[in-house]
Amino acid sequence: MKQLVFASANTNKVKEVEQKMGGIVPLVGLKEIGCFDDIPETGATLEANARQKAWYIWDKYKLDCFADDTGLEVIALNNEPGVYSARYAGEQRNSEDNIDKVLVNLNGKTDRSARFRTVICLIINGEEHLFEGIAEGNISTERKGSEGFGYDPVFIPKGDERSFAEMSLEEKNIISHRGKAIEELVSYLKSVV
Ligand code: IMP
Repeated sequence: MKQLVFASANTNKVKEVEQKMGGIVPLVGLKEIGCFDDIPETGATLEANARQKAWYIWDKYKLDCFADDTGLEVIALNNEPGVYSARYAGEQRNSEDNIDKVLVNLNGKTDRSARFRTVICLIINGEEHLFEGIAEGNISTERKGSEGFGYDPVFIPKGDERSFAEMSLEEKNIISHRGKAIEELVSYLKSVV
């Protein structure tokens, strides 16, 4: 495999993953292959979205590639916001509004357990492989910390008292859903390239 496309327009995300790959295969983002399309993400599950994005790239360019999708699943809210995590409180995709909505919906509930789940869909030679990474934890009643993004200020990973937003990126990456899913991907790639 001469290169692998990460179906992401986020250069920081691509760089972060490339670091984790330890040089096994050069990683390129969508910009590098000249793809500026607004890739549809209309699936009802994280799996469906990750597959939809990866197959879009394979079908259009026939390049080995992978795509990811992540969601916060709150058990007492029937696994909401899940696939709708980015736009839970509306199309403005505002993290503060999204957090407020989770906190309001959890008001009065005793079970505050939740998990972040990342699904990665890898396509090599037109063959699909799925990987998953999970971070278990609880939703706090108040925001804590200023690092990270999204729901980080209210997510307390299991075994810790701090929120993801009170951890450095390095620390979070070791225990995070995305970090674990990428580890699964990398160990698979190491076995085949
Ligand atoms: P994406 O699939 O990586 O774009 O994630 C979708 C949405 O899930 C983001 O817009 C965030 O709201 C939320 N999210 C994903 N990963 C994290 C995380 O590590 N911390 C907090 N929120 C996250």
